[in-house]
Amino acid sequence: MMEQYLNIKNKYKDALLFYRMGDFYELFFEDAIIASEALDIALTKRGKTNGKDIPMCGVPFHSADNYLPKLIKKGFNVAVCEQTETAEEAKLNLKKGPLKREVVRIISPGTLTEDNLLQRKNNNFLGAISNFNNSICVSWVDVSTGCFKTRNIGKDKSSNQKQLLTNFMSRMDFSEILISEDMNVDYIIDEWHPIIKKQPISLFHYQSCLDQICSYYNVVSLEGVGSFSEGEIIAAGVLLSYLNLTQCGKMPFLSMINSESINNFLEIDYFTQKSLEILKNLSGNNEGSLISCIDETQTASGARLLKQRIIEPFYDINLIQDRYDIINWILENKIDINNYQTSLQNIPDLERSLSRISLSRGGPRDLSLISRGLLGIKQISENLILHQSKRKMPRLLGSILNNLKIDYSLFSNITNALKLEVPLILKDGGFIKDGFSKELDDIRSFRNNELSQIMKLQNEYSELTKINSLKIKHNRMLGYHVEVRAMHDQSLRNFDLFIHRQTTAQASRFTTNKLVEVETQLLNSFDKAIKIELEIYNDFAFKIVEKGKEILDIVLAISELDISFMVANQSISRNYICPNISNNKILDIADGRHPVVEHQMRFSENSFISNDCKLNNEDLIWLITGPNMAGKSTYLRQNALIVIMAQAGLFVPAKKANIGMFDKIFSRVGASDDLAKGQSTFMIEMIETSLILNTSTENSLVILDEIGRGTSTFDGLAIAWSVLEHLHEKIKPITLFATHYHELTALKKNLKHLSCHKMSVKEWNNSIIFMHKILNGEADKSYGIHVAKLAGIPIEVTKKAAEILSDLQSKNNQIKQNPKKEIVKVNSKEVNNFLEEFDKIDVDDISPRQSLDILYKLKSKRQTYGKSKFKK
Ligand code: ADP
Repeated sequence: MMEQYLNIKNKYKDALLFYRMGDFYELFFEDAIIASEALDIALTKRGKTNGKDIPMCGVPFHSADNYLPKLIKKGFNVAVCEQTETAEEAKLNLKKGPLKREVVRIISPGTLTEDNLLQRKNNNFLGAISNFNNSICVSWVDVSTGCFKTRNIGKDKSSNQKQLLTNFMSRMDFSEILISEDMNVDYIIDEWHPIIKKQPISLFHYQSCLDQICSYYNVVSLEGVGSFSEGEIIAAGVLLSYLNLTQCGKMPFLSMINSESINNFLEIDYFTQKSLEILKNLSGNNEGSLISCIDETQTASGARLLKQRIIEPFYDINLIQDRYDIINWILENKIDINNYQTSLQNIPDLERSLSRISLSRGGPRDLSLISRGLLGIKQISENLILHQSKRKMPRLLGSILNNLKIDYSLFSNITNALKLEVPLILKDGGFIKDGFSKELDDIRSFRNNELSQIMKLQNEYSELTKINSLKIKHNRMLGYHVEVRAMHDQSLRNFDLFIHRQTTAQASRFTTNKLVEVETQLLNSFDKAIKIELEIYNDFAFKIVEKGKEILDIVLAISELDISFMVANQSISRNYICPNISNNKILDIADGRHPVVEHQMRFSENSFISNDCKLNNEDLIWLITGPNMAGKSTYLRQNALIVIMAQAGLFVPAKKANIGMFDKIFSRVGASDDLAKGQSTFMIEMIETSLILNTSTENSLVILDEIGRGTSTFDGLAIAWSVLEHLHEKIKPITLFATHYHELTALKKNLKHLSCHKMSVKEWNNSIIFMHKILNGEADKSYGIHVAKLAGIPIEVTKKAAEILSDLQSKNNQIKQNPKKEIVKVNSKEVNNFLEEFDKIDVDDISPRQSLDILYKLKSKRQTYGKSKFKK
């Protein structure tokens, strides 16, 4: 047995080998040590090798589902090795030694299909990255839903490629990533390193990857499928090879491979996704994120599509308008939204059932879910078609309904064949209704006869022995047997008829020749019935997989409908409106609201205060001042979120919105805490800002909140100042800039496309009230001390702070009135050197990083000179 084990283990070195022995999966050697620790189960031993104990641990096979997720979540691959012959087959082949065993599947984080291992509303993506001729390409697949896509990240400068790859990976949230052994991992940020699985270089061979894809789709070339770069083909081929390996030759049903262009989407980078809390809040949980607030989809696939839309909204006015048209059609025709949403609620996760069936991992329940689900969809589409004549049907809705128009007879047949309640497990049968198969019915009636035969035998034996409590029972060890209480043991032994099998403290068990005969017939009939049921199942499963493409198209169509009904409902329940979208440079929102904050306030007695925003080529940058807590961040983010929702094809929380197409969104919050990674908060802030200055375009939306806060006042002010100037003069994106540096408002004199706005506050009774309303003009005070009071800082501390503040302010005024006092005397040689060096700087031609270095140099010079007085 150990020899067999070692042979198998040798082939699956990268996985923990779950070796089936009877009712247990056993692990040995290093695997046992790793798994016992990861699962917190006992480590035992079995036998010895070279005089040393062999470590072993095991889990019962029927509860493996409880243990597997723990290992998979920790990033391990598990190779499941099953007995692939029965004891009877081995006997027939006159075979000696252990029964044949084979690895039937490798479970890895990116190839899961089981519902209990997956999250309903999330895709589970396996990705592969290729680096061919300096261009980075990614392909990704969700085995559980059949999604299969590729994308060329680009051939740009390597820093930009790395950034685009990082953005993409953080959006897709991969479970496992395959790269070539020789690929430079520096392309991938540290956060993703734990899920990288390096693959042999040979797998990344262009021609064999192309062959893999063609053979999977059974086509001779990919020309008719789409246009793919070499790198995309390599990445996709690697995925197929990996699936072949992990699924041991059984391939899942995948949609037709599709190449997506990176330019079709509104690009949301890694920091923006985090700072706008799109999928997760700042602490990494779901609550308070945009998706958790707006997701009111009814189907699992609808929820997954919505998530993709939110992280990668459209950058194409037609695609967005198509979605709006369906929602408006639903509203204008007064379609009963509630009714449709209730029907959608009953649509099961068809993609996941299809995937399990295609991998021979499905069961009667999957058949039932698919067939009933599709019949439910047929009903929905028939109901919708009834409204066809009312108003001209929108283009996309027409093509959705077209996709739903298929022959549903297979699914009616399956529903007719299956019992209402079907078991989860296939191999025990019992899921086909009486009346569907004559052959099965005959066997079942024979079996019922045999069962009543057993009842008859029980009565007969009871009368014969005069023991009323005599029963014929069944257990796994003995099969059918006659059972009497131990005290009657001798009475039965007196009859030749009864053959003794077992005696325990309470009971004695016997059998009879007749009972054995009936039981054998019964078992044969069970086997026969199961065989017939399996044949029926396999036939249905085969036909379902044949219709796989149509089923996936239907799922996509129904997911679109699900989102449309959700938005139509939100336009009523949440007062969201349909934005006007155009290709103009415009962000004009009347009475906009923050979707999440507003939703969180729905039970509060205060209501959310709406705000306008009016930016365009003329009024390009809004500089927003106001005390802390006045609502600056909320205002900034609400505008970014409204743009994301609009470009995702959703309605938005506002009274009116005119929104141009944005190619990228950048949102930065100053001094975000990232100390754990060993970088100073200021450094992080500057890296993030440099990304904006290097990659934003005039069609981008830039949201900057308190940039420069992470350093001393003057550094911060200088940086914020020059960033604003650069945005205004060079890049010209629509920008919202919140700051507590009131000095910046002076910029409005020189920058004609910049205007100042403030979050209004009212003073009342020596305290302040935040109005959360944006007004023209600049805030005059910081109100920091008032906010400190609100936060519960002891009164004597805030009082003292007020005294210090007034002292500082009066000194500041004195300096302003008598500025000569502040002029320092500087040594002329020093000045000359300094000026010479300074003049060399070409401000327009340095990177943010270089400017930062200069600042540091200036700072250190200042420190070297210390407090010495220089002569002018
Ligand atoms: P700032 O960025 O100016 O410090 P925030 O945007 O963080 O202020 O807002 C402070 C608090 O005020 C938050 O709790 C937020 O929920 C609330 N708030 C902000 N804007 C509004 C608004 N328009 N209506 C109602 N409450 C708001």
